[in-house]
Amino acid sequence: MSRKTERKNMCAASEMLRRYSEVLNLLRFGSYPDGFDNTKRLTLRRYAERFTLQGEELFYRGNRRVISTVEEAKELFKDHHCSPSGGHTGVVKTRKSFTARHYWFGMSSHIADWISKCDKCQRTGKPRDVKPLTSIKSIMASVGKVMRAIRVLEFGKPEVLKLLTDVPVPSPVENQVLIRVHACGINPVDTYIRAGVYARKPNLPYTPGSDVSGVVEEVGNNVTCFKKGDRVFTRSTITGGYAEYTLAAEETVYPLPGKLSFKQGAAISVPYFTAYRALFQKAHGKPGEVVLVHGASGGVGIAACQIARAHGFRVFGTAGSQEGLNLVLQNGAHQVFNHRDQDYIEKIQEAAGGGGINVILEMLSNVNLSNDLKLLSVGGRVVIIGCRGSIEINPRDTMAKESSIIGVSLFSSSKEEWAEAGAALFGGMETGWLQPLIGPEYSLDKAVQAHEDIIQNTGATGKMIFVL
Ligand code: NAP
Repeated sequence: MSRKTERKNMCAASEMLRRYSEVLNLLRFGSYPDGFDNTKRLTLRRYAERFTLQGEELFYRGNRRVISTVEEAKELFKDHHCSPSGGHTGVVKTRKSFTARHYWFGMSSHIADWISKCDKCQRTGKPRDVKPLTSIKSIMASVGKVMRAIRVLEFGKPEVLKLLTDVPVPSPVENQVLIRVHACGINPVDTYIRAGVYARKPNLPYTPGSDVSGVVEEVGNNVTCFKKGDRVFTRSTITGGYAEYTLAAEETVYPLPGKLSFKQGAAISVPYFTAYRALFQKAHGKPGEVVLVHGASGGVGIAACQIARAHGFRVFGTAGSQEGLNLVLQNGAHQVFNHRDQDYIEKIQEAAGGGGINVILEMLSNVNLSNDLKLLSVGGRVVIIGCRGSIEINPRDTMAKESSIIGVSLFSSSKEEWAEAGAALFGGMETGWLQPLIGPEYSLDKAVQAHEDIIQNTGATGKMIFVL
C-alpha cells in the first residue's frame, strides 16, 4: 500500500471513530462537544439522524447492526484477514462476508482498543493494517477517560436503567467538583423520576442519583472548599450518582467526617435533610412533644427517629417486620408498633394517652392520613412525606383539634434552609447521634432489581445503597 493510501485509510478510520464518539455523545447525552459552532452542530445533527440508539446498541441507517461487545467483536474478527483497503475483512460463521469498516461506527472505545491490539495482524506480518487502528486508539484516548454508569434513555419501567461501560468521565469547570463515587443512595424519588411521573423531569438521556459519597478527584478553578483527596458526600449531582464518577456543584458537596463510612455517607442527604425539614422546618416540633414516625424502618424513618430522639422528643415508630421493629427501637424510638397489625392504631392511641400525638411524620399518607387525623393532639400536625395515591378523609377530623396537614418537599428548601439543616446534621455527625443505618446493598449492574425492591419490598431495614 502506498503511503498516500495508507494515510487516507488512517484518516477515514479516524474520522469514522471521531464521528462515532460525537454521535454517541449527542445521542446519549443530548449535548454537543465543547467548541461546536452552529454549522458543526447542524452537520453533526444531520449525521446523527442516520443513527438510532436502542439500549446499548447503535444502528446505522436502520439496518447495519454494529458491534456492541468485545465478545461480539472477537467472534466477528476471529477469522479475519487484513485488507489493503484499510479495513479488516473476513467471513462470519454464516459465511456472509463483512468488512470491519462497516462496523466501526458502532465500536465502543474498549472494542477499538481490543482491535488495536490485534495480534493476528502482527502474526501475519501486515503491520500496515494495524497502523490505522493504532491511530484509532489514540483518537479514543483523546475522547477522554470512560466509566461505568447507569443511563436512562427513555422514561419507563426499571428495565430502562442501562449500565453502560463507556460513558465519558466529566471534567469539572468553575465551581464544580468531580467525585470518585464509592457509594450512592437509592431513593424512592429516583424511581418516580425514572418512570417519568415526577414533577421535575430531567432531559433524556440522564444518569439518576443525587446522594453520593466518595473522594474528590478534581476541582474546577473557582472551588475553594475542597481539594483532590477529600472525603465528601453530596445532596445533589449534576451528572448523576449511579456512576463511577460524578460532578457536583460545590454548594451541594459536604465533607464526610472520618467517623462515618462511605456507605453511611451515601445515606445522609435525602433521608436526613427530609426528616429534619419535616420535623423542624415544617411541623415546628418542640422538645417534649410526642412524635410518631409512621414508617420508621426505611431511610427517612430511621433518620427521623435519630433526630427526634436526639432533640428530646418522645418517639413512637412503626415498621412492618420484626427486624424492622427492632432496628427502629435501636435507632431512637421509645416505643414501636407494627403497621401490619389490625389494632396498632388503638395501641398507639393507648400509648399516647389522652393527649394524642403532637407530630406525625407520614411515609404512606394515601393509606394512613385518615387514621393520623384521629391520632393527633389538639394543635397536632401531620407532615406528608410520602404519598403514593389518593385517600378519602373527613375534613371535620381537623376541626375540633385545630390540627394541620402539611406537605413537605425537600427540593423546595431555600438556601438558608439547606444551610440550617446542614449545620444541625453536622452537629449530629460530630456528637455521634447521626448514624445512618445501611440496609440492602447493590452493585450498579443490579440497578433494575434495586428499583423494583425499593418500591415493592416490605420489611425495610434501613437505607438502600449502591456500592461501587
Ligand atoms: P423506604 O426506605 O423505602 O421506606 C419506606 C417506609 O415505609 C418503610 O419504613 C416501610 O416500612 C414504610 N411503610 C410501608 N408500609 C407502610 C404503612 N402501611 N404505613 C406506614 N409506613 C409504611 O423509603 P424512604 O426513603 O424512607 O421514603 C419514604 C417515603 O417518603 C417515600 O414515599 C418517599 O418517596 C418519600 N420521600 C419524600 C420526600 C419529600 O420531600 N416529600 C423526601 C424523601 C422521601 P416496612 O417496610 O417495615 O413495612
